[in-house]
Formats: sequence, C-alpha cells, structure tokens
Amino acid sequence: MPTLESLVFDNGFARLPESFYSRVCPTPVPDPYLVCHSPEALALLDLDEGEMARPELIETLAGNRLLPGMDAIAALYAGHQFGHYVPQLGDGRAILLGEVKNARGEGWEVQIKGAGRTPYSRGGDGRAVLRSSIREFLCSEAMHALGIPTTRALCIVGSDHPVYREEEETAALVTRLAPSFVRFGSFEVFYYRNQVEPIRHLADYVIARYYPALKDLADPYPEFLRQVALRTAELMAQWQAVGFSHGVMNTDNMSILGLTLDYGPFGFLDAFDPGFVCNHSDIGGRYAFDQQPDVAAWNLTKLAQALVPLMSVETASQAIGEYPQVFGKAYLERMAAKFGLPPGSEAAGLVMDALQLLAQNHVDYTIFLRRMCDFDSRPGALNAPLRDLVLDRAAFDAWAARYAAALRQQGSSDAERAAAMRALNPKYILRNHLAEIAIRRAADERDYSEVNRLHALLARPFDEQPEHEAYAAEPPDWARKIEVSCSS
Ligand code: AMP
Ligand code: MG
Repeated sequence: MPTLESLVFDNGFARLPESFYSRVCPTPVPDPYLVCHSPEALALLDLDEGEMARPELIETLAGNRLLPGMDAIAALYAGHQFGHYVPQLGDGRAILLGEVKNARGEGWEVQIKGAGRTPYSRGGDGRAVLRSSIREFLCSEAMHALGIPTTRALCIVGSDHPVYREEEETAALVTRLAPSFVRFGSFEVFYYRNQVEPIRHLADYVIARYYPALKDLADPYPEFLRQVALRTAELMAQWQAVGFSHGVMNTDNMSILGLTLDYGPFGFLDAFDPGFVCNHSDIGGRYAFDQQPDVAAWNLTKLAQALVPLMSVETASQAIGEYPQVFGKAYLERMAAKFGLPPGSEAAGLVMDALQLLAQNHVDYTIFLRRMCDFDSRPGALNAPLRDLVLDRAAFDAWAARYAAALRQQGSSDAERAAAMRALNPKYILRNHLAEIAIRRAADERDYSEVNRLHALLARPFDEQPEHEAYAAEPPDWARKIEVSCSS
C-alpha cells in the first residue's frame, strides 16, 4: 500500500544554486484540521485515500513538520505588476516542501500556500485565509476537470489561528501540486540584476525537465521561448472560450509551463460581458476579460526581454511573433467546435455575432452555450429554450436562422452534434455565488459539506447531474454584491 513513508522525493529545484531560492522553515499553526481534499490530486502522488486522514500528513501540510526527504524552500522571483516592474517578489507565503516522483515517473512539486513568512514576504504575514484557500482549491480542480492546464490543489488544512485582513479571519493552507511553479518573473529577476548566468542556468533546468525535446538542439533557447508562447496562446484560448477571467495577470503569475497559476480574485463570466473585471481593486480594468489575450502577449514580451541575454533581440521577438495568430486560430477553432461548426470564416462570423448578441442582451454565457447543444436545425424550429434567454427576439431569430442554415448546409446531425457539443460546453462552472455559499458555510459553521459537494460536482462539469440542476442556474440577485479583491 502506498503510504507517506513510501513517498520518493526528488527536489530538482532545491538542487539549483541558492541564488534561486531561500531555505526556509514553515511557521507552525496550532491544531490543524483537514477541510477538504481532492482524491484525484491525491492519486497523482500515488497516495492511498486512507493517508489523507493521518495526522502526520495533516501536520506536514500545515507546515508543522517535514517528512524525511523534503527540502523546504521559498523561490525567488520578480515581476511586472499592473505594468510596473517590482524587483523582488518571491514566494512570500508559499513554501515548496519537495518534489514527489510518482510511479509513472512524473514529478509533482508539493507546495503549501499560507505557510508563514519567508525572506520574500515584504510587509505580509505569510498567511492565507480560509476564504481564498477554498476559492483556489475549488477552482484549480474545476479547471483541471474542464481540461484547462492548471496547477492542482491537493487539500486545504485549516487552523483557528487568527489572520487579519479587512476583518479577523482564520488561517488555512492550500497544498498545491505542479510539475513546476517557475514563472516568467523567475527569469526577469536576474535580467534586471544584470546576471546572465542564472538566466542560462534556469533556462537549462526548465528545458531539461519540462521541454526535453529541445535539450539537444544546438541553440534551444529561441525554441524554448517559442514553445512557452505557444502554450500561453493555447491557455488564453481556453480561458476565453470557457469565460474565465484570472484577475491578476502580472508576469509573476504567468507559468513557464502555460498553466493557470495563482488563483486570486478570478471569476467566471455569468452574463457575457467582454469588459468584465473580476478584481475589485483593478480600477482601470487592465485585466478585464477581453484584455487577457493581449496582456499575455505583453507579458511574453517581458519574458522575451529577460531571455535576450541568451539570444538576439530580433530572435527573441521572432520567437514570440507567432503568438497572435496562434491564439486567434486556437480560439476560433475552440469556439467553432463549441458551436458544433467546422472552423472557418462562416463559423467565425456566427460566433462573433452570437457573442455580440449575448453581450447586448446580458445573456448568461455558460447557460446559452449549454442550451445550444440542443439546437434544432430544422427550418422554422423556434428553439424556445435558447430564444427565451435573449430579450431581442428578432435579433435572435435572425441569428438562429443563419446558424440553422449553416448547420443544414454542413449536413450536421442534431443528435450527433449535441453529444459532441455537450463535451465542450460545460454545464457546471465555479460561479462566484456558489463559491461564496460554500465559503460562508465553512467559515461560519465549520461545515465543509458544501465545499465537498461543489468539488465533486465540478469534477464532472460536462455531465448532466439532474440532482444538482440548481447549481447550473444564473446567480441570484444577492450575488451582485460580492466583491473580490487581491486581499487573500
Ligand atoms: P499574489 O497577488 O497572491 O500573486 O502575490 C503577489 C506577491 O505578494 C507574491 O510575492 C506573494 O508571495 C506575496 N504575498 C501575497 N500575500 C502575502 C502575504 N499574506 N504574506 C506575504 N506575502 C504575500
Ligand atoms: Mg502570485
């Protein structure tokens, strides 16, 4: 039976020179308890379900003890925050405990977020609160279930240790798993310090471990940068297609592996609104929903710049030059497929016009797309469930007639298309109000059943789950008042 004692640690990042991190000890919290865990994430470490209940594991993931083989560190990085370079950030509250090698040969770094102060904490307390930890836990696992690259969340450990934000809250730690937490900012920090060797060293490390196909190239760096740009383009296409808004796309929150990283004030679109800003503190709307692909492009220029010591400026800009086309193509292909259409100019027109219709009529994005799966393409069909979502019926009818004609022309079978579309248009997403209900119950009543229910529900986002129909509904009126900010 796989147990804690049989975990095999590798700790590749901790074997890099000490200029990349600081060795730290997590600060213990009193009386930690398990709030929730993800069985799917636990399986990545080859751990048996029973291990999750062991006090040794809870104590470890609370930062109260280390397992043999762990080598705890906080990583150094910098980053552009809201357009401005901040020379030193780093893991101010996350501590990498070690990297587990599973039986399939995969390496999973185990990081606890909220583990106390580190040399990079600046003014912060090194803690995370239960509220934001629940949001990160649920969203990481939900994104994975949606097929979107992301860091994973193994569990949340709570403690009654008080943490002060706008008001007093309690501490929690999320255990995150990822092949690597290296960020664009991990390179930037050395570029702005004029240190070329660490840039090369880190690039070699990332290439050898995570882009192994490139390591034998005579000059792997330009191709490495290109691959990061491609993965980033693919990620942006996925975010835009599902209606996910990250909220804080600073370069320190951009994964070198193209993963969704650092869940803060994120939000999924309810009503389709291109200018949606989920982060209450983002007054200028820099990270608005429809800005994300361009922000990622801008962030890639910052990464390219940080890698210029390894290649010419021209080569670096070429390496990220394909991003706009790759993003555009990936996004359109995804959207066409969500509409059950082959990619092409006709699909593009229908998709864009549908989005405009949704925006003008404040139609719920997820509900509309899910109902589209059952679109009746026969001439004269009313498609009432879909039509009822749109106030401007005439505009809907005109669009639906075009869409139906396109489907008929392609000889698309309604039944076959419906099945394919249901696997691409989720029924269940982590709407803000759903997270909020789970958080309130957890924080006020120590009742974690709703967190667990949501986790299980969102592990199968494409399945009809009739007993949970209410979770697919539009947000209630009170949800309009929910405000999410960077404070977490
Ligand atoms: P984030 O906006 O969560 O991505 O964090 C930006 C930077 O602030 C990172 O370097 C974090 O480690 C750091 N940080 C955020 N919250 C805290 C905290 N409570 N204590 C220490 N550092 C923090
Ligand atoms: Mg961050």
